[in-house]
Amino acid sequence: MIIVLKPGATEKQVHHVLEKVKEFGFQTDVNRGAERTVIGIKGKIDQVARLRLQPIEGFPGVEKIVTVSAPYKLVSRQYKSQDTVIDVEGVEIGGKNVVIMAGPCSVESREMVLEIAKKVKHAGAKILRGGAFKPRTSPYSFQGLGEEGLQYLKEAREKTGLPVITELMDIRQLPLLEKYADIIQIGARNMQNFDLLKEVGRSKKPVLLKRGMGSTIEELLMSAEYIVSEGNSRVILCERGIRTFENATRFTLDINAIPVIKQLSHLPIVADPSHSTGQRSLVAAIAKAALAAGADGLMIEVHPNPEIAKSDGPQSLLPNMFSDLMEGLKKVSHAVGRDL
Ligand code: PEP
Ligand code: MN
Repeated sequence: MIIVLKPGATEKQVHHVLEKVKEFGFQTDVNRGAERTVIGIKGKIDQVARLRLQPIEGFPGVEKIVTVSAPYKLVSRQYKSQDTVIDVEGVEIGGKNVVIMAGPCSVESREMVLEIAKKVKHAGAKILRGGAFKPRTSPYSFQGLGEEGLQYLKEAREKTGLPVITELMDIRQLPLLEKYADIIQIGARNMQNFDLLKEVGRSKKPVLLKRGMGSTIEELLMSAEYIVSEGNSRVILCERGIRTFENATRFTLDINAIPVIKQLSHLPIVADPSHSTGQRSLVAAIAKAALAAGADGLMIEVHPNPEIAKSDGPQSLLPNMFSDLMEGLKKVSHAVGRDL
């Protein structure tokens, strides 16, 4: 249930409503938008509670009380109708410009990350990606360089000015990531690691939450709700492909998810055509399709020499392929009323 205040409601009126809700034993989450303030009431609201809260609708400064039917509240469109725009060191995600995040799957060495950072920036990427802690299917595969990799990312950021995004796999790594990363990535395999979600919900860093490969859109939004309900409202959703019966591609990018999420939530949604296709030759087509469907950005893997990549070589673009793709993406962005 949410209480929508009138535009121009005073701080005193907001306070009065909050006091009353608290008196009834409910916790709240206050969203002070540019236009109006909205108060979210946390927890389950039964018929009795609804009746008790109803008189608040007549309080000065209150416009209406809305029952949010979805199990997620704070991330829902009903709670906040305008799109959330997330500022990452001056790069806005969810605004008019689509934002391209690019870089290697894993940070493999200082030289490779510096080279790729320079090249993707030159091609127009706004954020550098690179994993230092890698979630690998096999324990014998390359697990990432850990803190050393984070230091190389930091150097790449200093040299190029690109903010960096990197994956968090374990609560114990959070202080390190807070030191080095501009966006914390929660990978598909951890989308429902609820303790991890709560922990990043208490962080001040923006979070990119990838959809689990076996998760529904509603489950993705519930996971986002975990983060936002802890106080961190800077969440970017990411459609990265789900498991279907189709095995011609690594996963199946759920293109429907993009406009569906736009309807259901105010959070930005980006797409990852690299992990969904698993094949370099398919990345460009799916990247364009995702932007055409309304994605706020893309995450794309780029490697200087994919043949010897320590992870995800077959889906990584060569830097020149990435530059060419950016030209096509500009045209698609303009066709759908966005800038790149
Ligand atoms: C990644 O971005 O490198 C990654 C491991 O992605 P996902 O969690 O979507 O598999
Ligand atoms: Mn990868």
